Amino acid sequence: MSGDPFQVRFHSKLGVVIYDPLAQMGIAKDQLRLFKISSMSMTSFRRDIVSKDLGAGEPDVIQESANAVDAYRAARGNKLKPYCTGCRRHFGSVDFSVCTDCNAVRCTCGTCNCVARKRKAA
Ligand SMILES: [Zn+2]
Ligand SMILES: [Zn+2]
Repeated sequence: MSGDPFQVRFHSKLGVVIYDPLAQMGIAKDQLRLFKISSMSMTSFRRDIVSKDLGAGEPDVIQESANAVDAYRAARGNKLKPYCTGCRRHFGSVDFSVCTDCNAVRCTCGTCNCVARKRKAA
């Protein structure tokens, strides 16, 4: 997993999580936004509470989540797409998720590529 602009970590309660430096906008200094593989979405946590249970994780545990990490990597691209086409909020500042249908970032307003495609077709 070298060369990724984000870190894949393991949390004893949350499971495999992704720390993405680009996703830390618009949260308080004592907070940390992590992408949870189990729910395929970002959640904000208290930095001091979450970081004490954060570790590198066993390679096989990380390996089990490789497909999900790939999906995140694909949705993110080289950098997070700056704005949601639905509500115009910056993706780095919302608890977005990744849509498993279109493999794109899905905003908290519900906009992902599926929605954009449907809108175009209508
Ligand atoms: Zn939105
Ligand atoms: Zn979608």
